[in-house]
Amino acid sequence: MNDKLIRGLLMEGSVNMTMISGRELVEAARQAHGLSHVMTAALGRLLMQTAMMSAQLKSKTDNITVIFDGDGPAGRLVAVGREGGVVKGYADDPSVELPLNGKGKLDVSGAVGKRGELRVIRDLSLKEPYVGRCPITDGEIANDFANYFFTSEQQPSLVYLGVRVDPASGAVRAASGLLIQPLPFCPERDIAALEAKASEIPALTKMLEEGFEAEDALIELLGELHPEFTEKLEPRFMCDCSRQKIEAALVSLGRDELADMIEKDGGAELTCRFCGSRYVFNKEELTSLLEYASSGGAEDADR
Ligand SMILES: [Zn+2]
Repeated sequence: MNDKLIRGLLMEGSVNMTMISGRELVEAARQAHGLSHVMTAALGRLLMQTAMMSAQLKSKTDNITVIFDGDGPAGRLVAVGREGGVVKGYADDPSVELPLNGKGKLDVSGAVGKRGELRVIRDLSLKEPYVGRCPITDGEIANDFANYFFTSEQQPSLVYLGVRVDPASGAVRAASGLLIQPLPFCPERDIAALEAKASEIPALTKMLEEGFEAEDALIELLGELHPEFTEKLEPRFMCDCSRQKIEAALVSLGRDELADMIEKDGGAELTCRFCGSRYVFNKEELTSLLEYASSGGAEDADR
């Protein structure tokens, strides 16, 4: 079963809906970062939320950065989403592991913290990126986003995020998310109908694990609300780093720093934070970057 990002409407168009089925995406993040069980759930939830928010982006240069800056042992979690629900992300400490919480679930709030700040930076090719922020009050991530949308963007929202991890291997069995946002003209009775449905939505991830297709699971869960699907995308965990970008970053360090690396270390090894890719530069390669920097290539970056 492939990952899916489905956009649509509920109740004759009065409510916006975005759903993600993201097992492969979360599994790719787990493997890239060597995520522990609880961190697979934590970063997986954040990545799926970011993918759902990025589904609306319409330009290649637009992106959304989400920073979950809690006071837990995992440190900061960062995710960046691009057009079409393509995401990358990392946690300061991917290895934090905790016992299951009182409900027998992975203790996400224990790992990321119940206090701190959630920041959302929407960079939409405008002059200034839009930065929204709100305090973290829950730490299970979905409720924190519902709170963020309501307090920072004045948008009431129902947010569900779930990751099921194999207790033995840590592999992702199923992962899904749902973002439901009533439009301003949504009648009160439709909001009441949504609220009545909210308690059933956490069944979504289990249904996918049992083999439901994403569309069928949505119809099974939300059929009474008349879902219409308007767009389907393939979300992915994929980094946009490249050797070329890392070279540009090295050049931007300036001549002195590069000369220092050549002299003291005889080379450089850089690891991309977002995907764990390693980039190795030997002495000759660094020397040619130094020559480029000395010829004026780094003038822009030095300023
Ligand atoms: Zn990368």
